Amino acid sequence: IFANVPKGPAIEVFALTQAFKDDDNTKKVNLSVGAYRTEEGQPWVLPVVRKTEVGIAQDESINHEYLPVTGLETFTRAATELVLGADSNAIKEKRAFGVQTISGTGAIRVAADFLHRQLKRSTVYYSNPTWENHHKIFVDSGFTNLHSYRYWDQNNRQLDLEGMLADLEQAPAESVIILHACAHNPTGMDPTHEQWKEIANLMERKKLFPLFDSAYQGFASGDPDLDAWAIRYFVDRGFELFVCQSFAKNFGLYCERAGNLTVVQQSSATRDMIHSQLTLIIRANYSNPPAYGVRIVSKVLNTPELRKEWMECIKNMSSRIRQMRKLLRDNLVALGTPGNWDHIVNQIGMFSYTGLDQNQVNVLIKTYHIYLLKTGRINMCGLNTSNVDYVAKAIHAAVTS
Ligand code: PMP
Repeated sequence: IFANVPKGPAIEVFALTQAFKDDDNTKKVNLSVGAYRTEEGQPWVLPVVRKTEVGIAQDESINHEYLPVTGLETFTRAATELVLGADSNAIKEKRAFGVQTISGTGAIRVAADFLHRQLKRSTVYYSNPTWENHHKIFVDSGFTNLHSYRYWDQNNRQLDLEGMLADLEQAPAESVIILHACAHNPTGMDPTHEQWKEIANLMERKKLFPLFDSAYQGFASGDPDLDAWAIRYFVDRGFELFVCQSFAKNFGLYCERAGNLTVVQQSSATRDMIHSQLTLIIRANYSNPPAYGVRIVSKVLNTPELRKEWMECIKNMSSRIRQMRKLLRDNLVALGTPGNWDHIVNQIGMFSYTGLDQNQVNVLIKTYHIYLLKTGRINMCGLNTSNVDYVAKAIHAAVTS
């Protein structure tokens, strides 16, 4: 029965992590992984998360009954408020609601299934480059017209707004446009507020549907309100849209799969219909969502003292990343490495598109045991004060070899 099943291609980021593990060189550095690391190079359980999970474990009133199909309500409400702002008109007018999903990936998948089945959408545009799973998810949801829009200007190592607008101008009305809410993965390059306004103008005129992928709220700048600026701007302008929220990075809850799909409508009258269809999609997929992670997020966001502690944690993570950006750039400048490296400090969030080409990446991996994606994307969290000199010197050698 199984003899003719072809082997699928490896997923680059996981293959690199395995290669890193198998490498016994003592100087090895993993810049490919998509997770936060401390100055000591270790995963970080946010202290507020640890404290909250201990409290939950000791709470005798909590049991393991199923959650509703669309998840824990105290969580979906808090998540929706976090992204839209507690004083959002869309929330006050009951035009916005959330359903719990299997982290950000699950939110995108449920959104794509709904858009295809209920709204008969089959055209999607994502940035070039983007998080590689966008394409896979939309193919699996039945989308047949998948396009990319220009985003990254490799020569100038900045956002190619002109190219982006020109490509979106060609998109047929009703196309789904995936937008990274902040900390664009993989480039780390976000539009400015003025540029977002231009993007919104075009999307409104062309009747394009915004699907915001929000995987880094608070983690990017340290300020959850600032990181949600683009989403709130679109909502204030009256767009109907989806936001796919992940709590993997900003709560460090990667494997617990805490996510939320926020729906913003023009009228509260469509809420029950949309909610019922999302329920059916989830029911047939995995029936009920997991409770562990969302109980933690719910407790923290809904308890003022814990929420304050969480804000300190996200400030801590984002400022360490900014410090690493500066150190890497300053090191490269001090070494006289050819080229301009300012983009490293102008980018935001966990990732940096370094602009290194594939040959240079190969030199870093093979000669220096520094693991990064072939596109030149690095995870800034893989850097710390002990290895940043080594990495900068290796980049210098790769660029000048
Ligand atoms: N979108 C983007 C842009 C991401 O970078 C990620 C995480 N790598 C996700 C969505 C989803 O992650 P998760 O399913 O772990 O929440």
